[in-house]
Amino acid sequence: MTKAVLITGGSRGIGRSCARLLGAQGWSVGVNYAQNRAAAQETVAEVERAGGRALPIPGDVANEADVLAMFDTVQQTFGRVDALVNNAGIVAPSSQLADMDLARLKRVFDVNVLGAYLCAREAARRMSTDRGGAGGVIVNVSSAAARLGSPNEYVDYAGSKGAIDTMTLGLAKELGPRGVRVNAVRPGLIDTEIHASGGKPDRAAQLGASTPLGRPGSADEVAQSIVWLLSDAASYVTGAILDVAGGR
Ligand code: NAP
Repeated sequence: MTKAVLITGGSRGIGRSCARLLGAQGWSVGVNYAQNRAAAQETVAEVERAGGRALPIPGDVANEADVLAMFDTVQQTFGRVDALVNNAGIVAPSSQLADMDLARLKRVFDVNVLGAYLCAREAARRMSTDRGGAGGVIVNVSSAAARLGSPNEYVDYAGSKGAIDTMTLGLAKELGPRGVRVNAVRPGLIDTEIHASGGKPDRAAQLGASTPLGRPGSADEVAQSIVWLLSDAASYVTGAILDVAGGR
């Protein structure tokens, strides 16, 4: 039977690449997005061209009601939820902590931490075998920032991703006996629009050149790792945090 996955932030960047690659493997894909419906519709079209089924699903991961509705939509449309790619995330413009206001700090932690926890919670409720689920897989999208700290750029973002790493470790132990594998990927400098949203559109190209592999990564290169972690080929992998960062 066709498996179904919810990808938060599936409309662009790493999420879109995951959607397309999973569609090519026959998955049904819930393509969550925050605001950019046109981008989500393009992702849906890419999934369908690749051979899968897909649906655009609006919702803010930091809003509990939205998160419940996102999972309900996947379950009602595709009849099941087998996996979560916990990918939605934001950065704010580069700054020292001393210059960050409360609104910025709240939003970064609301989306990157609370949002990821709410989505993981819903996945746990619906996939855990002791709650009537059939088991499943969660892949959390962290960042190399979690171990680098991102000084003078965004220590808020780095800390939010540290929380994702820690959640991954705890949730893997909590859900392993309940049929759910939980892993994380830590992308490095990846060529997506997130850098423009932080005010530095050329950041990945500029800093990527100084990494051991000498270039930024592509969204597809991160997505390939996520797709592997979702697959049965990774059936004995849980609690792993995989750097996809070109050696950075
Ligand atoms: P991106 O190109 O900026 O795309 C962000 C995606 O997240 C979009 O689909 C956006 O939806 C969605 N989104 C933003 N806020 C949301 C919210 N509150 N609720 C639901 N969806 C929301 O980002 P990306 O580079 O692909 O990043 C994906 C993940 O990888 C993030 O967690 C990021 O921290 C992580 N990461 C990225 C890099 C990198 O270098 N690119 C490095 C390390 C980690 P709309 O289209 O509607 O705006």
